[in-house]
Amino acid sequence: MEKKMTIVYKVHQNAYVNLTNRCSSACTFCLRQNRDRVGESDSLWLDHEPSLEEVKEAFAQQDMSQYQEVVFCGFGEPTERWEVLLQVAKFVKETYHMPIRLNTNGQGNLINQRDITPDMKGLIDTISISLNTPNEEKYNAIVRSEFGDKAFSAMLSFVKEAKAYVPNVILSTVATTITTEEEEQCAKICADLGVTYRIRPWED
Ligand code: SF4
Repeated sequence: MEKKMTIVYKVHQNAYVNLTNRCSSACTFCLRQNRDRVGESDSLWLDHEPSLEEVKEAFAQQDMSQYQEVVFCGFGEPTERWEVLLQVAKFVKETYHMPIRLNTNGQGNLINQRDITPDMKGLIDTISISLNTPNEEKYNAIVRSEFGDKAFSAMLSFVKEAKAYVPNVILSTVATTITTEEEEQCAKICADLGVTYRIRPWED
């Protein structure tokens, strides 16, 4: 594993932010298991977790006019660095006035041991949370969260709480990893929760 300091990197037309390599999950399908990079990045394995100043410097080196959205998503779970993430989001809003998305495993309240969803108000425009499967038992087997069997219900509670503070709430599964019937069950869960269901490609 080659370690670099790729903090901001391009995926499609968006600027992705890589804040940490820590993650409360160990998903069986995680891209990190067999590759070092995503999109137009170099290695996403970090030498150390970047400070707010280092993140600002990384943004300063980018031509931000080429991007449509800033996305917190790297080789780790962004809510593991919640306080820095909020500071970066505030900086992005004030400096670039761009929409911000958070891609997360939905375990942020467990990770931070409090309800972090109110913090997102006015900063996060879209949140994409990994549902992975409609079945709790299967979720536990696939996601292998350090929070064990608390993770699935906590993730769904996180979705419900986030709806009050984030305009666009998306629950996602990864294409080809579950059956069509399971995808229909996921669509029903999303309809019941009043959020958008998205089947996403591996790299997104
Ligand atoms: S939540 Fe994301 S980063 Fe963490 S193990 Fe799963 S796929 Fe990998």
